[in-house]
Amino acid sequence: MKSFAQIAVNVPSVAGVFDYAIPDDLAGDLSVGQLVIVPFGRQRVQGVILRFVDQPSVAETKDILEILVPEPLLTSVQIALAEWMAEATLSPLAGIVNLMVPTGISQKADVLYRIRDLGFGNRALETNDDSQFPITDLSQTQSRILKLLTERGPLRGRQLDTHFHTVDWRKSAEWLVRRGILEKKSVLPEPRVRPKQIRVAQLAVPLEEADAAISDLGKTEATQARRGAALRYLMRELDEVNVSWIYAESGCNLSDLRILAERGLIVFRESEIWRDPLEGIEKRLETRRVESSVVPTLTPEQSRAWEQIQQAFSQTDRQPFLLHGVTGSGKTELYIRAAEESVRRGEQAIILVPEIALTPQTVRRFMVRFPGQVGLIHSKLSEGERYDTWRRARAGLLKVVIGPRSALFAPLSNIGLIAIDECHDGSYYQSEPPFYHAVEAAKAYARLAGAVLIMGSATPSLVQRWEADTGKSALLELPRRIASAQESKPHQTLDLPPISVIDMREELKAGNRGIFSHDLLDALGNTLERGEQAILFLNRRGTATYVFCRDCGYALKCPQCDNPLTFHMEAKERLVCHHCSYTRQKPRKCPQCGSKYIREYGLGSERVEKEVGVLFPGTRVLRWDWETTRQKDAHEIILSHFANHRADVLVGTQMLAKGLDLPLVTLVGVVLADVGLNLPDPFSSERVFQVLTQVAGRAGRSIRGGQVILQTFQPEHPVVQAASGHDYAGFNKQELVGRKKLGYPPFGRLVRMEYRHRENERAEAEAGKTASRLKSKIEAGGHVQTTLIGPVPCFFSKLRGEYRWQIILRGPNPAQILQGQRFDGWRVEVDPTSLL
Ligand code: ADP
Ligand code: ZN
Ligand code: ZN
Repeated sequence: MKSFAQIAVNVPSVAGVFDYAIPDDLAGDLSVGQLVIVPFGRQRVQGVILRFVDQPSVAETKDILEILVPEPLLTSVQIALAEWMAEATLSPLAGIVNLMVPTGISQKADVLYRIRDLGFGNRALETNDDSQFPITDLSQTQSRILKLLTERGPLRGRQLDTHFHTVDWRKSAEWLVRRGILEKKSVLPEPRVRPKQIRVAQLAVPLEEADAAISDLGKTEATQARRGAALRYLMRELDEVNVSWIYAESGCNLSDLRILAERGLIVFRESEIWRDPLEGIEKRLETRRVESSVVPTLTPEQSRAWEQIQQAFSQTDRQPFLLHGVTGSGKTELYIRAAEESVRRGEQAIILVPEIALTPQTVRRFMVRFPGQVGLIHSKLSEGERYDTWRRARAGLLKVVIGPRSALFAPLSNIGLIAIDECHDGSYYQSEPPFYHAVEAAKAYARLAGAVLIMGSATPSLVQRWEADTGKSALLELPRRIASAQESKPHQTLDLPPISVIDMREELKAGNRGIFSHDLLDALGNTLERGEQAILFLNRRGTATYVFCRDCGYALKCPQCDNPLTFHMEAKERLVCHHCSYTRQKPRKCPQCGSKYIREYGLGSERVEKEVGVLFPGTRVLRWDWETTRQKDAHEIILSHFANHRADVLVGTQMLAKGLDLPLVTLVGVVLADVGLNLPDPFSSERVFQVLTQVAGRAGRSIRGGQVILQTFQPEHPVVQAASGHDYAGFNKQELVGRKKLGYPPFGRLVRMEYRHRENERAEAEAGKTASRLKSKIEAGGHVQTTLIGPVPCFFSKLRGEYRWQIILRGPNPAQILQGQRFDGWRVEVDPTSLL
C-alpha cells in the first residue's frame, strides 16, 4: 500500500520537493512521473510524483488532491537523471524537472467535468424540483455547478475556476462525482491540428510573356533589380514557392510581389501545411533527391571503430566513447550505424547536434536512413510543434530524435543510444539557470538508461580528451578525411587543406589598408574564376562595426550593458546592442565633444559582404550571421542556397564553424584570426583553437582540394601556430601545461558564482559578504586545496542595466563545499565553460 509520495512542486515561486499523503481513493491510480495537483499553502499547484515513500520527512502532510494526467509525464530513468543533475549542478530539483516537461503542457493539462447521463431530462437539475429528480440535498454551489454544466456542456477545471472566484467548488464537484451525478476525466488536449497557412507564389503567365515584361518592372534601378530577380526566380521554379524563399533568393519584399501580382505576372495562394517541422524538408528531398540512400561500406578505420561500438551494445558495463575524428572523417556515418543498431534492438536513439546551424544537413542524412521515424527538436519550433513532437516521441512513434541540448529530454521509454555530434560545442552548455552541461547530463543518462554513448568531435575539449587519455572514456580515432562519395572512388582519403598564415602587419607596412590581404584576394579571384565556392569567416566577438568619434575617441555604448553598440548599415544605419537588443539611431554629433566626425569603424560581416561585391562585381554573396538568421527556417534557406551553388561566397560568423559538408568550397578565408585571444579566461585559447580548426575544416571536402588563408596580427601566437598546422595534439600538450600550473580543469574543478545588481556598490558589498562567508567555510572545513578568487567585477561588467560581480572557487571538488547551502540571488555554476 502506497502511503506517501515525494513531489516536485512545479511553480516558479516554490521550486521544491515536498512529501504528500496519498488518500485511499487515489492509491490505486497513482504512479511515478504523473502530473498531480497538490495543496501548497492556500494555493493549488501542480507537481510531478518523484517516488513513493513509507515515511514522510515531516510530521504533518497534506493529501494529494487530483491526478491531472494519468499517463506519466516522466519515466523513472528521467527522474533519476533529474536527481543526478540537481545534485551535480546545485540546482533546485523542480527546476530540472521543469526542463523535461514540455512548455505549456502543465498549463494545458486539466480535468474535464460533465453531467452523467442519468436517463432523465437535465432540466430537472436546474429547477431542483424533487418531484422530477431524485436528488434533493444539493447545496447552493452544487446546484450552480450543475446549472453551468447543463447550459455550457462539459467544462474544464480551469473554466470552472473563472466562474467561482471565491468559492471552493471542487469539494462540491467531488461530492457530485461520488454520488454518480458528475463524471470527470483527466485531459491532455489533443495536438491542435489546425493547419498552418503559408503564403506561396507562382508564375501566372507563359515564359515568353514573363520575359517580355521583365525589363519594365520598376522606376528605379533597385526596384527593377529586385522585381526582376523575383520574376526570374519564379520563371526558373515554375512550381509554387514559399514566399520566404523568394525573398531570400531575390532580395525582394512582399510589396514587390504584390505589384507583380497586380500586373498579372504571378499569383499568390495560401497553402496549408501540417505542423511537422520536417515535412517541408522531406518534400524538398523528394523533389531534389540529392542524398542517395545508398549505404556506404565503412572504411577500414570506421570499421575498427564500429566493431567496438557494436560490441558495446551487447555489454552491460561500458564506458562512453570519445570519437575523435578530423572534420569529414566519417563520424556521422557511425552515429547513423549506431542508431540503426539500436532501432534493430527495439530501442530509440537520441542524436544531439549543436544549436540549429548544423541541423538541416545532419537531419537530412538521418531522414534518408530512417524515413518517417525522425523527430526534430529545435529552438525555433512553435509551442504547438514542440508539443506534437513530444507526444509522438512519448507514443513511441519516433525512433530517432535529433536536436540541440534540450532533445536529451525527449520522453523516450527505451533509449539505446545517445550520440553527441561536435561534443566540444559551446551550445551544449545552458548558460542560464538551471545551468547544466548536456554532455555531462548525457553521460549520466546513458549510465542510468543502459544506453551506448558516443561523443564525437574533431576538436574535443581538453577535458574530454583528457578523460579518454586517462581511461574514463574509450577513445576511437578517425585520423583521415574521406572524399565525398559522388566524385571519387570509394574510400579515397584526402589531406586536410593547407593553411597559410598572413601577417597583416606586413600588409599594412606595404600600404594595403583593405580588409583582404593580397594573397586572399588572389585566391578568391582564382576560386571564383574556376566556378568554385569560398567561405569568408569572421569571429563574431569584436569584429562587428563600432561607432567612434575620430576627434575624442568616444565610442557609443549601450546604456544598459556598457557593451559597444554595433552598426547596422542595412537596418537604416541603426546601432544595436547584441546583448539586450537596445537600438538607437546613429547620432549626427559626438555626444561627448560635439564633433561631426563620428564614424563607424571595424569589420562586420556586412562590410565584408559589401567589399566582395565591389572587388568582384557580379559575384553572388550570401551573408549568414546573427542578423540574417532571425527568421524561422533562415538557416535552412541560406545553407541550401549555398549548397546548391546559388551563391559563390558565403560570409559569416561562428555558425560556419559547425560541421557543414560543402564539397564545392575550395577556399576558406579567416578574415581575422586573433579575435577572442588574450581574454582573461582560461578557456578562451581553447575556444579560438576549436573555431579556427573547425572553420578550416570546411575547405577541401572533395577531390577538388582546397586551401585556407588565415589573416592575423599575431602570427606568432601559439594558438594561431597550432591551428595553422592542424595540430590538435600540440595545442593540447601546451595548453595542459598552462592549466596544470594554474590548477584549472582537468587538474582542478571550478565553481563560478555571480551576483547582479543595478547598483554597483550593492553588488560589490554582497559579493564581499559572501566571499568572507565562503572563506571561513573553506577554512573551517579544512579544504586546504581549495582557493577562492575574487570577488571581482566580471570581464563583461554590466549586462542589461545590472553590474556583475563574481567569485571563483577552484579545487578538487569545490561544489561539495556549497552543497546544502542557500545563496539567494546568486547564480551558481559548477564547472563553468567561461569566466567572462
Ligand atoms: P564527419 O561527421 O566526421 O564530418 P561524415 O560522416 O559527414 O564525416 O563524412 C564525410 C563525407 O564522407 C560525407 O560526404 C559522407 O557521406 C562520406 N562518407 C562517410 N563514410 C563513408 C564511407 N564509408 N564511404 C564513402 N563515403 C563516406
Ligand atoms: Zn544592451
Ligand atoms: Zn567626440
